[in-house]
Amino acid sequence: MTAPLTPPPEKNARPATHRNLGIDSDRLWASIHETAQIGGTPKGGINRQALTTTDREVRDWFKAACEACGCTVTVDGLGSMFARRPGRHPTLPPIAIGSHLDTQPTGGRYDGVLGVLAGLEILRALDDSGHITNAPIEVINWTNEEGARFAPAMLTSGVFAGVFTQDYAESRQDRTGTSFGTALDGIGYRGTAKAHPISAHFELHIEQGPILEAEGATIGIVTGVQSIRWYEITVTGADSHAGTTPMHLRHDAMLAAARMIAAMADIAASHGPDAKATVGLVECRPNRRNAVPGEVFFSLDLRHPEDHVVASMDAQAQTIITRLAEAGGVQATISMTWESPAVHFNPSCIEAVERATLAAGLPHRRIVSGAGHDSAYIARIAPTTMVFIPCAGGLSHNEAESATQTDIAAGADVLLRAVLDLDSQFEETQA
Ligand SMILES: [Zn+2]
Repeated sequence: MTAPLTPPPEKNARPATHRNLGIDSDRLWASIHETAQIGGTPKGGINRQALTTTDREVRDWFKAACEACGCTVTVDGLGSMFARRPGRHPTLPPIAIGSHLDTQPTGGRYDGVLGVLAGLEILRALDDSGHITNAPIEVINWTNEEGARFAPAMLTSGVFAGVFTQDYAESRQDRTGTSFGTALDGIGYRGTAKAHPISAHFELHIEQGPILEAEGATIGIVTGVQSIRWYEITVTGADSHAGTTPMHLRHDAMLAAARMIAAMADIAASHGPDAKATVGLVECRPNRRNAVPGEVFFSLDLRHPEDHVVASMDAQAQTIITRLAEAGGVQATISMTWESPAVHFNPSCIEAVERATLAAGLPHRRIVSGAGHDSAYIARIAPTTMVFIPCAGGLSHNEAESATQTDIAAGADVLLRAVLDLDSQFEETQA
């Protein structure tokens, strides 16, 4: 049952010690696998896309679970849910723990879900112990993080952070032409809560990559999200006969493109271990076995934790592509189609996670997120950081996504300790 949430009688009373305050690993594990049945797939994953009936079902489950441990759940105009547990000082903006309950069409059980349900577990643990925090604690389920049904991804955290407008979000359409706004009304989750200040935003997430597992680290202390630039390159030569055109008279777009693609990997290598260059999409015309290719189109994805390094890789790529085009007797055009600057998380939040990890005695490393997250947008308006735990084989956006109960419990424990650490800093300011 719900513990009373009335403030303690003495104005300057210390918060209850953390005695008996800890996460319940079995309860968290059970919640993850109980809710995985909502939209569960035969292969053991989840298909729970934003604003579908399964999304409504898991929202109803989450709301009931939060209310059962004494929280008030409000919903904003885009369906994002805010489960708030009062603190000792009602005027303090809440410390938020946020992530997402929507999934990819062939998603796993942990991407996003872990972050929201670990937040719920913290609400339950606080309720069990009767611990009163200084600031309110707010667990957030951000609508449509995945962008699988309504592009772009991280749509509503983007609106909350002022990156997109409410109208833009509501007008996004899925592939059947249904708008976000219509789908939101369809599941009855359009609320009236307004964007509000938050003291901090913490997000626990699986790494979605192989680094922690490879290094035997349980906790990734996330310092930011890397800088990303996308390009499209078109190489134009001349189609000609493979049997009659001598090698020295060819304008072979494929050969030039192949040299360019290999050079992109060299550029990444020359910018250190954190630089990445990927050519993942190639189209060749006319794409016949006995024709010298006249045109090749390829994509380029450049990433590094620092914007200035990506800018340097960009400059080198432009120079080398131009030079290789000239050398190959072809032309090349390069256009940048998308840019996402680096995000640097808040030092105080990062240090709170680091202290929590050390206190828990867990193997760890600092890490930069390779993927986008709601926290990347929220970092624009509030002190933010993330906690990563390993996932098997680095696999994610896949029904076979998996994480261990031990690592999940460790991640939730660090999240709780970091939140309490940050909350304790309000004691001096509010005493
Ligand atoms: Zn996610």
